[in-house]
Amino acid sequence: MSVQIKNVEKSFGALKVVKGVSVDIADGEFFVMLGPSGCGKTTTLRMVAGLELPTAGEIRIGGRDVTYEEPRHRDIAMAFQDYGLYPHLSLRGNIEFPLKVRGVPEAERRTKVESVAQKMGISHLLDRKPGQISGGQRQRVALARALVRNPRVFLMDEPLSALDAKLRATMRTEIKKLVTELKITTIYVTHDQIEAMSMADRIAVMKDGDMVQIASPLEMYERPQTKFVAEFIGSPA
Ligand code: ADP
Repeated sequence: MSVQIKNVEKSFGALKVVKGVSVDIADGEFFVMLGPSGCGKTTTLRMVAGLELPTAGEIRIGGRDVTYEEPRHRDIAMAFQDYGLYPHLSLRGNIEFPLKVRGVPEAERRTKVESVAQKMGISHLLDRKPGQISGGQRQRVALARALVRNPRVFLMDEPLSALDAKLRATMRTEIKKLVTELKITTIYVTHDQIEAMSMADRIAVMKDGDMVQIASPLEMYERPQTKFVAEFIGSPA
């Protein structure tokens, strides 16, 4: 589903941290918000998720105005850097949790968990607990749990920053392949330009609560519109 962000602003007290952001994200697009720490990426993502309310502007998902709608009524899933897995539940228990709370019957849960676990290459681990697997595997479990409901929009906030460089590179490819296969619209937050350049259909470079430039990785690299973008992307001077 498409996601539209229209003149969205967010203030915390007197501090305006998102300053009128607008972008149309197409159905199935992999959209990356890239920028230094504190530029408003997470806050923007949390407004799409419904975890923060904008102080101005509008958010539409699949054409529907969801600006003030609760998170559970939005057809979205989220994954964060800290996996947020339940340590006392098996991996199966973790992955099926979002289905269980929605009252999906056991047989259907089983099929769905097995299908997503297979896609993530963790089928053989389902009876283990989060403490008994590696960081990379925990990341896969978190992704499986996010995707088991087959959401149409997937929001990721620095999902790979806790992993070492080698695993990050592997997971970049895996995530990209997975969401492309599933045709999910993805909004991905990172401060890592390599992640942005290698995964995005389009990148928004953010600075001080604004999207300074929105472009494909190639266009951003070849035609950065400001010095800040050029330096952040690492374009030749
Ligand atoms: P980024 O994800 O780009 O690092 P954030 O969206 O997390 O940036 O934060 C943008 C700014 O908003 C920062 O200055 C941060 O300190 C501030 N901020 C974020 N959340 C809150 C909050 N709940 N209360 C007050 N200030 C906040």
